[in-house]
Amino acid sequence: MDKTAPPSDRPILRVEGMSVDLAVSSGQLHAVRDVDFAVKAGETFCIVGESGCGKTMTSLALMRLLPRNARLSATRMEFDGLDLSTLSERDMATLRGDRLGMIFQDPMTSLNPVYTIGDQMEEVYLRHRVATRKEARGRAAYLLQRVGIMSPELRLRQFPHQLSGGLRQRVMIAMTLMCEPRLIIADEPTTALDVTVQVQILQLLARLQQEFGMAIILITHNLGIVARMADRLAVMYAGKIIETGGAMEVFTHPQHPYTRGLLRCMPGYGGGGGDQRLGSIPGLVPSLIGKIEGCGFRNRCDFATADCASGDLGLRALGGGHSYRCRLEPGEAAKLGGEHALS
Ligand code: SF4
Repeated sequence: MDKTAPPSDRPILRVEGMSVDLAVSSGQLHAVRDVDFAVKAGETFCIVGESGCGKTMTSLALMRLLPRNARLSATRMEFDGLDLSTLSERDMATLRGDRLGMIFQDPMTSLNPVYTIGDQMEEVYLRHRVATRKEARGRAAYLLQRVGIMSPELRLRQFPHQLSGGLRQRVMIAMTLMCEPRLIIADEPTTALDVTVQVQILQLLARLQQEFGMAIILITHNLGIVARMADRLAVMYAGKIIETGGAMEVFTHPQHPYTRGLLRCMPGYGGGGGDQRLGSIPGLVPSLIGKIEGCGFRNRCDFATADCASGDLGLRALGGGHSYRCRLEPGEAAKLGGEHALS
């Protein structure tokens, strides 16, 4: 949130009415339910929530990398002038790695263990650009340097297993930058790394974003990362966006009891400061199989009433792009207090 250059107001990605349904043995699992959001050029938009809230399925849907049993529907999925929902598989394959990049949680699963780093980075460039192998090699070495890897020529000759986890993630970032994407989707890019390396990778991403001007969608369960990186954010719960807005606004005036609960779990913010104990949100995310009647958070919410058990709550707009999905009036959760209220 401490970035100096403001992002552009022009959205590079607009998603409206996007849903992802998975056919499973016990029925239809509605992983993503009627989600709307937009990402502006050059900004960092964080999608945050617990495991199983739909954030990874959202990112896979954007890349059109959903599992075979998934069905994607949307009224709009527009990226850089293209309709992602109707592009052929061939056109999507051209887009991925070029204008649209993705950084996965564990680079060991996305780097091919039988090819050298250099072969894999060159391949990305040669697939999308008219260039010689020498030019591709030169760009790969340049980008390894840009992500802080010493002796890039040596690293280009090595295989993924010869690098540490932090180096592999730097390689993934460099590989994603080979064709200067307009948007990078980073799904929990630092979860597999130790804390010190996490900070280095996040600082690196922020610096490269300034330098290359790309937008980033950062998927994470870690609000500390959101606080460090986000311009705007969306909190997902049970497949829906339940609160969204500017990062500073949502952190200082969270409205939804779930957002407030997440913040209480964050050391040094809502909880864990001084003698305070870290908060927790008891209970589990509801089953995503079938329709969820009323508010999906009501079995875990301190403020649930009979009114929360039926109907389909829409997002309430507070102005400035901040909106939340709850029957409580603005500021009411803070006044009511209760176990999950911020102090
Ligand atoms: S709608 Fe009701 S159950 Fe859902 S978060 Fe608001 S108060 Fe809690």
